[in-house]
Amino acid sequence: MATGLLTIDLDAIAANWRALDRASASGVQTAAVVKANAYNLGADRVARALAHAGARRFFVAVAEEGAQVRQALGPGPQICVLSGHMPGDTEMISDLDLTPMLNSLDQVTRHLESLPGHAFGVQLDTGMNRLGMEEAEWEAAAPFVLEASPELLMSHLACADEPDHALNELQLANFQAMTEGTGVPRSLAATGGILLGPRYHFDLTRPGIGLYGGLPYEGALRAVTLSLPILQVREVAPGEAVGYAASWVAEQPSLIATLPAGYADGLRRGLSNRAVLWDGDTPCPLVGRVSMDLITVDISHLTEVPKSLDILGPHQGPDDLADAAGTIGYEILTSLGPRYTRRYLEGRT
Ligand SMILES: *Cc1c(COP(=O)(O)O)cnc(C)c1O
Repeated sequence: MATGLLTIDLDAIAANWRALDRASASGVQTAAVVKANAYNLGADRVARALAHAGARRFFVAVAEEGAQVRQALGPGPQICVLSGHMPGDTEMISDLDLTPMLNSLDQVTRHLESLPGHAFGVQLDTGMNRLGMEEAEWEAAAPFVLEASPELLMSHLACADEPDHALNELQLANFQAMTEGTGVPRSLAATGGILLGPRYHFDLTRPGIGLYGGLPYEGALRAVTLSLPILQVREVAPGEAVGYAASWVAEQPSLIATLPAGYADGLRRGLSNRAVLWDGDTPCPLVGRVSMDLITVDISHLTEVPKSLDILGPHQGPDDLADAAGTIGYEILTSLGPRYTRRYLEGRT
């Protein structure tokens, strides 16, 4: 174990998908978002586990990710590409049977001209101002786009993790107005949208973070454990400092453990003097600055020096660590570096 052991619980991810599937209104299909290598947990393994659990439709950010997921899943499941049909994607979309979510008139033209008859969906912008066709553009395009039989009309909520935010209702109303009466299956809700209730579910929901144990899905099972071995232990006398910039100074005789993971492994520098690691049920404070490859942890209060400490685990999820670092669970997960040894748990439930 060189820098740490990242354990990914595929059973927990599958259980989270099933729970979100049950939370989606009856008759609603539940897809799975596996972009960014399944939030960095391994798109191949995650997509296969979710297909086994019953997921039939997957979303990725770009065509290259779609190609990887297709290779993992084989023919059958639908793989939707959120960035749509970009220049240079045509062959991949065609050969690997990807379904682009077209985001502009340009993309519509490119798709219908280069791959007539090939499946596609349309992404509409209902108020986030990030991706998708806006109302006027859609009004102009809708007649001939609908003629070409899109598989899905979708949009994305900007504030779904804040149930009381006024933009939710506004986006819902815009989405209704833009899609009403088209007869095409519709999708508006990611994890946060599922939790807003059935009015947001339409025909298909698209959870991502909730599958991987992150907020806003509070009921999610934890899917990730990150265990770091102790590399060295030293006694530090009162008045002595630890780490870069001498930002932590011992007030009493202390036992400091050095662990081989740092900001190059996704343990952000903002965790310096803020995060906690765990020896089983006992918290141990991270002291001093996070270095590129190392962190230092105060283990003075432990009765025995353990072999390793957990920085993600039963007592601390990605969102807890995110709070300490001033970010969100999504960024903690997608920042976890390539040096960890990855281990998958599967088939225990
Ligand atoms: C990332 C993303 C999702 C999944 O969002 P979560 O908040 O992770 O559930 C769904 N739809 C779109 C368009 C996305 O970009």
